[in-house]
Amino acid sequence: MPRDDYEVVIGLEVHCELSTKTKIFCSCPTTFGGDPNTHCCPICMAMPGTLPVLNEKVVEYAVKAGIATNCKISRNSKNDRKNYFYPDLPKAYQISQYDLPLCYEGYVNIENEAGEDKKIRILRIHIEEDAGKLNHDEYGRGSFVDLNRAGVPLIEIVSEPDLRSAEEAEIYMRKLKSILEYIEVSDCKMQEGSLRADVNVSIRKKGATELGTRTEMKNMNSFRSIVRAINYEVDRQVEVIENGGKITQETLRWDDVSGKTFPMRDKEDAQDYRYFPDPDLVAIKLSDEYIENIENSLPELPESRKKRYIADFNLTEKAANFVTGSKYYSNLFDEAVEVCKNPKSTGNMLMSDIARILNEKEQEPDSIPFSGKELGELILLIDKGTISSAIAKKVLEEMFTAEEKNPNKIIEIKGWVQISDEGAIKEVVNKILEANPQSVADYKAGKDKALGFLVGQAMKETKGKANPQLLNKLFIEELKK
Ligand code: ADP
Ligand code: ZN
Ligand code: MG
Repeated sequence: MPRDDYEVVIGLEVHCELSTKTKIFCSCPTTFGGDPNTHCCPICMAMPGTLPVLNEKVVEYAVKAGIATNCKISRNSKNDRKNYFYPDLPKAYQISQYDLPLCYEGYVNIENEAGEDKKIRILRIHIEEDAGKLNHDEYGRGSFVDLNRAGVPLIEIVSEPDLRSAEEAEIYMRKLKSILEYIEVSDCKMQEGSLRADVNVSIRKKGATELGTRTEMKNMNSFRSIVRAINYEVDRQVEVIENGGKITQETLRWDDVSGKTFPMRDKEDAQDYRYFPDPDLVAIKLSDEYIENIENSLPELPESRKKRYIADFNLTEKAANFVTGSKYYSNLFDEAVEVCKNPKSTGNMLMSDIARILNEKEQEPDSIPFSGKELGELILLIDKGTISSAIAKKVLEEMFTAEEKNPNKIIEIKGWVQISDEGAIKEVVNKILEANPQSVADYKAGKDKALGFLVGQAMKETKGKANPQLLNKLFIEELKK
C-alpha cells in the first residue's frame, strides 16, 4: 500500500467565537441569528468616521484560553489590519493580530487513538473580528450581505503541525472544545459556526524530516467532515505524488455531499495581506497582576478533575477520561453523585446508556435535557431496589423524550415500580412453574440453563418489574422442594 509509505502531517487553525455579551469593537450584541442586519451599528458596518474601541472582555477571555492551554501571555500586544477584499467584510480589512499575538507557545495534552500520550504544541492564540455572512439566494437573484456576525469576537488557536492522523486531529479538536467549554469563553456550537477549523494537510515519506507542501481546507465545522476531508485529502495527495506529480499549496473547499475537495484559490502569503498596526486602536499592555487574577479565576480543568475522580471516587482511568471529556458530562456527574453517592454507577450510566442514546440521536452532551439531580435520583431508585436496571433504561429514555424529567414521577405515572413483595412474586413463580413442567424436569435433571428460562418467563409476566434477586431466590427454593 503506497499510503503506508507516507506520514500524514496536520496542523489546525481553530476559530472560536467568544461568548462575550457584546462585539469586539462596538456594543452590538453577539447573539446568533436574528433578522439580517439587526445586530449592527455604524462601527461594525464600517461607516466612515467611526472608531473601534476594544472590548476588555475579549482580552480576558483570550487570556483565559491561553492559560488553559499552557500558553505564555504577551505583556505587550496590539491589533493589526489584515487587508483583503471580501463582500461580507465592508472595511476591506479585518482587525486581527500579526506579530504580537496575545498568547503563544502553549500545548494541549491528548491521548491519541493508539492510547499514547501526546503533547500538541500551540504556536499562538490571537484575537480578531469575525466577518459578516453572505446568503446566496436560491432563485439566483444574487447574494445578500448580513452583517450581524461582523465584529463578533474570535480567537484563533493555531497548532504546530504535530498531528499525525485524522483521528488524532479529531481527538485534539475535541479536547480543545472541552477546555474552551470548561473555562466558559465560548458555547462552542459547531453547528452555529462558533467553533470551526482550517485544516492544513501534507504528507511526506516516512523518515523524512522536511515537511511536505500543505493544502488547506477552510471553515470545517463538524468532526465528521474534518475526519472525512483529511482522509480524502491524504489519499489524493498520495496519488498525485505516486504518479510523479507535485502538490500545489492552495486553499481547497471540502464538499460534504460528493466527499471530495475542490481547488478554491492559490494560497496567499502573509505579505499579500499588507499587515500593519491598526492606528485606531491603542496597544494592549497587560500587567502580571492582571494575568494572575485571571489565572486564579479559572475553574477546575479536565485534567485535574480526572485526577480527582480517580483519587476520590475510585473511578477507572477509562471512566474518568470519559466523564471529564465534556464539561456537561462532568457537571452532570458531580451533581448526580451529590444525590446518589454512587460515582461508579453514575460513571457507568454516562458511559453506556447516556452516550448510546446521544449517539443514536446524533446529539452532543450539551443537549442532555435533564439535570444531574434527576440522574442521581434515577440511580438512587436502582440502588434502593425500587426499579430494576432494565426498567431504569426505560426511565432514562423517558427522561430524554418526555416532558416529565423526574424519575420518581415517571415510574409512578408508568406503573414501573419493581415488585419486591415476596407473596406477589411467589404467586408468579408458582404460575410459571406450573406452566413449564418440561423446564422444571430439565432443571431437576441438572440443566441449570432451565432456571434462566423460567426467570425470563417470570420477567415477561411481570413486564420486567419483578425484583430479579428475589425472583431467582424463590425459584431455587421452589425447585428444591
Ligand atoms: P496561514 O494563516 O497562512 O495558513 P499559519 O502559519 O497561520 O498560516 O498557519 C499554518 C497552519 O498550518 C498551522 O496550523 C501549521 O501547523 C500548519 N502547517 C504548516 N505547515 C504545514 C505542513 N507542511 N503540513 C501540514 N500543516 C502545516
Ligand atoms: Zn456594532
Ligand atoms: Mg491558514
